[in-house]
Amino acid sequence: MEENWEKQLACAEVCLRCNTPLGKKDKRLLSVYDHEPICMDCKSAEEKRPDYEDTTRAMISTCMETENRPYGNPASYCFHHFCPFKCKD
Ligand SMILES: [Zn+2]
Repeated sequence: MEENWEKQLACAEVCLRCNTPLGKKDKRLLSVYDHEPICMDCKSAEEKRPDYEDTTRAMISTCMETENRPYGNPASYCFHHFCPFKCKD
């Protein structure tokens, strides 16, 4: 993942899943399925999918291989699949 992921994803203006507009102060998360920024409602729906746990595990191990930061680092791309974030601009 490129270093500027935060710019591209953190400030997305709509949920990539349901097209709900996202304000800069609205919390969003990255999907563990396609790494797109999605709203909190879509995240809740995603968590109910039967393959969510397996997909999460696979996503984390891929993420650990491509990121040089520790998993729990708030600056890490991986982290934002689980910790809601806002656009910082
Ligand atoms: Zn959504």
